[in-house]
Amino acid sequence: MFRKPHCPVIAIEEHYWDDELEKTFVGGEAGRPGEQFDRLHDFGPLRIKEMDEAGIDMQVLSHGAPSTQKLPADIAPALSARVNDRLAATVAKNPTRFAAFAALPTAVPEAAADELERTAKLGFKGAMLHGLANGEFLDDKKFWPIYARAEKLDLPIYMHPSLPHADVIKTYYADYAKDFPMITRATWGYTVETATLAIRLVLSGVFEKYPKLKVILGHLGETLPFLVWRVDHTLARPGQKSIGFRDVFCNNFYVTTSGNFSNPALLCCIMEMGVDRILFAVDWPFVMNPPAIKWMETVPLCDEDKAKILFGNAKRLLRI
Ligand code: MN
Repeated sequence: MFRKPHCPVIAIEEHYWDDELEKTFVGGEAGRPGEQFDRLHDFGPLRIKEMDEAGIDMQVLSHGAPSTQKLPADIAPALSARVNDRLAATVAKNPTRFAAFAALPTAVPEAAADELERTAKLGFKGAMLHGLANGEFLDDKKFWPIYARAEKLDLPIYMHPSLPHADVIKTYYADYAKDFPMITRATWGYTVETATLAIRLVLSGVFEKYPKLKVILGHLGETLPFLVWRVDHTLARPGQKSIGFRDVFCNNFYVTTSGNFSNPALLCCIMEMGVDRILFAVDWPFVMNPPAIKWMETVPLCDEDKAKILFGNAKRLLRI
């Protein structure tokens, strides 16, 4: 059993799969091994039991990758709405244990912005987007209606990894993917994709247009807190357009602990971004709850800072 911290525990990157949406997944994204599959479809006995065993009071639920980011434009808006309505019903059955991030039909950016607003009225805490949207990075100007609406509603957008572009998989990883299939995924491929998106978002100028836009990154910031000094420094060299990378990264981004339970990495995030920008997450069911909670017991922080990570920052950012 775990020592219960002196505050509730909210975990904010906890996944599920929707029966209808999951049927659209193909190739390496379709299906999951038995136990993971069962957990992704469970909102009762298994999920709640494992939350209780680890002392997790609330999960903010989100669909697993690639969620709605690969749906064609003709079906994306209606299917995303059905997915979100079913998730809203799940949360409504257990509102003290669950909250939710919406899935957005990025294939139709205006509809995605409208869906963010519609789901906000249902009590959703923001939205989660996954990797490339039908092969395109989400910093493209055509997606900016989503960020305009997110700023207006004061809701964060969680940028979650998904499989890299097929050309990247082929050129960067194919020769190692047979022996180490995770190389294209959580080991490295996801990180590269998501960190690239985050850097592109800053360079795009979207935070100049929407200065109150809030973006969440998982996995303790997808390496960027470790690199923010170098990225900022090199972007200040002659020949670059003027951009305050560090200012934007440390003022508009939040990071979660999903699947990266490392004291040195956490302390790096706190040193660069401040403890108010770090939120607890597990990445269930791809990562189990006990190691996350056990780790939080051992992090070298005072109780007040631990309580911010486990509860207070999520309460403030997501208005829980
Ligand atoms: Mn995840």
